[in-house]
Amino acid sequence: MNKLKILISDKISEKGIDIIRTLFQVDIKPGLTETELIDIIKNYDALIVRSETNVTSNIIHVANRLKIIGRAGVGVDNIDVGAATKKGIIVVNSPEGNTIAAAEHSFAMMLAITRNIPNAHNSIQKGEWNRGLFTGIELYGKTLGVVGLGKIGQRVSKYALGMGMNVIGYDPYINSGLSTKVGINTIKLDELLRNADIITFHIPLTNETTNLIDKKKFNIMKTGVFIVNCARGGIIVEKDLRDAVVNGKVSGAAVDVFSNEPIKKDNVLLGLDRIITTPHIGAATKEAKINVAIDVAEQVRDVLLGGVARSAVNTPN
Ligand code: NAD
Repeated sequence: MNKLKILISDKISEKGIDIIRTLFQVDIKPGLTETELIDIIKNYDALIVRSETNVTSNIIHVANRLKIIGRAGVGVDNIDVGAATKKGIIVVNSPEGNTIAAAEHSFAMMLAITRNIPNAHNSIQKGEWNRGLFTGIELYGKTLGVVGLGKIGQRVSKYALGMGMNVIGYDPYINSGLSTKVGINTIKLDELLRNADIITFHIPLTNETTNLIDKKKFNIMKTGVFIVNCARGGIIVEKDLRDAVVNGKVSGAAVDVFSNEPIKKDNVLLGLDRIITTPHIGAATKEAKINVAIDVAEQVRDVLLGGVARSAVNTPN
């Protein structure tokens, strides 16, 4: 009997591939263009991606054998879930596999920008010894505004409480009892923006959150606020963030995610000492890469063998 076929179109951990390799035919082809995927997707029963492959409606439209798309990670914004649902294809993700990695990166970025670590590093590499230039601020006693109190937002909040920060949060969809249990005071967005010394974002990119933070919102923030975005590009209007840093409203920003990735050399967030950037590496730890690959490979295996997926993000007929 012919084995069912799985296409893996981004690099995922071998530990995940080991789970499906013996049961199915597994083809690993990273870096395919949309046209190349359209050509071959009709041969596959399952597709596994990370964030590099854009699974567009054009690809899904011709994917007549496809039963499941697995996203080794959390965000499914690189997959046209609506098109998959219409076509009867289940989309699964790994909602918890990279929570710790993303929370730790958010905190690392918060410390890096408030203590000037990247700039101090660059300076000392040039042979300079400018201790006076890099005076930072302490997190202890500061108010952290956490926008989005899901898995990552709650974990970041716990780290912040451990550092002696006050934590205020905004999440219209969370049960307020839960946030109180964690020790977070949940308030309205504008109130959070007015009161926080540092604001960190942990929300998905949706119609509601696209351009959530623009010039008007920066204007109501405290002067000297710090911004951390390790959630999704597109939540903050990049040009407005740059302007707010240049005009001093924002003391510094730490950004891991961008509206268009990979970014172009002329991206407005580049070229300023007070905006530090990383290339979407929030989930890039050895542990998280293994976790998400195993999580998604297990679900693809289960669905292809007639079972159910534990983390489906849609409910196709
Ligand atoms: P989650 O689903 O557990 O939490 C998201 C929270 O956002 C939920 O509590 C939800 O109620 C809330 N939310 C939704 N819309 C909102 C709105 N309009 N205003 C305020 N809150 C809103 O997700 P998570 O695992 O905590 O991930 C959070 C974000 O981090 C996602 O965008 C995810 O893609 C991103 N992420 C980035 C990286 C990275 O590499 N930088 C890694 C992992 C996750």
